[in-house]
Amino acid sequence: MGVAKRAPKSANSETAAVPETGWPDWVDPAAASRLQEVIRDGRIGHAYLLSGPKGVGKAAMARAFAQSICCTNMERPDRSVPCDSCRACRNVLRGAHPDVETFSLDTQAMLADKPGRGSSLTIDTVRRLRSSGAMFPLESDRRILIVDDAETLLQPAQQALLKTLEEPPKSVTLMLLADEPEALLETVRSRCREVRLRPIPQAAVAQALLRRGVAGTLTTEVATLSRGCAGWALAADSDKKLLQARRDERASAARWLTSPPYERLVTAFTLGDQFGKRRSEVVGVLQAVIELLREEMIAAARAMEQEPESAGRSMPAQSFSRAIISSLQCLSDLDTNVRPRLALEAMVVAWPNLEPKDR
Ligand SMILES: [Zn+2]
Repeated sequence: MGVAKRAPKSANSETAAVPETGWPDWVDPAAASRLQEVIRDGRIGHAYLLSGPKGVGKAAMARAFAQSICCTNMERPDRSVPCDSCRACRNVLRGAHPDVETFSLDTQAMLADKPGRGSSLTIDTVRRLRSSGAMFPLESDRRILIVDDAETLLQPAQQALLKTLEEPPKSVTLMLLADEPEALLETVRSRCREVRLRPIPQAAVAQALLRRGVAGTLTTEVATLSRGCAGWALAADSDKKLLQARRDERASAARWLTSPPYERLVTAFTLGDQFGKRRSEVVGVLQAVIELLREEMIAAARAMEQEPESAGRSMPAQSFSRAIISSLQCLSDLDTNVRPRLALEAMVVAWPNLEPKDR
């Protein structure tokens, strides 16, 4: 028993210590093949925007892209796949390749005099990126500049970045990674080729966890809470705070969904008022609401299949599907600057009445 428990743990701490090489097997395969194709065809662009939710694998994809371009192994059969063992490959992996540079809130904090990570990428960071882009590649054919947390670029910083995008240096490829690409100026977005990374099926997240030796009991829960982001799931396996935060979100969502209509409205207004300051938390609870509604809808449809005569006694799947549509509409309204209170109110009035139950 003791051995069985220890084995997965050590396998996992190993993966946490050594970054994975090559193209990750847990990202949206369609997005990965789009990037691989441009390398294979030798049509590498000047700017890409990798977008998708936190933990979906944007940084891992950007690293694999850089590794494939910098790899010096001439014998590899496919130039869009890095060999993982040459010096260049290893250096990209260690973050020590002279032609691959990452700019992020973390690197910005490391270079700043003030302590703390900060919440936005500043114009100084973009200036550093511009000078880095002006250098010639040293070992590879091009320089790959990765801007993580790009959604936090302040407006003046985006304006400065725009100059680079408008007159891109010859042998530079810019990779912007953004959780919320809507936060970027349209002028910035339109100058990048956008590659959207979609979440993968829950079963695929569970397989990725199992392949890395995460214990079976936890796999199901982490995969369920992952929202299809295996990067999040792998991180949550070693950082229990991440896992707990999502459990809490799900519990709040369940309380909200099962409360009486008046209380639902009060919660909607409260969250609406907090939206400006706690955007990601509010969006997190909304996503948890949608997950719970989906589960209820599937359960209702299954019950109908097994016991058609029960129709009329229980909530039909259609009421859940209406509620899901209204909740998705609310998420999109919040993105397009509809007043948060209004968006949330319109959503809760479309929810069916649910009984509280153990989750
Ligand atoms: Zn290599």
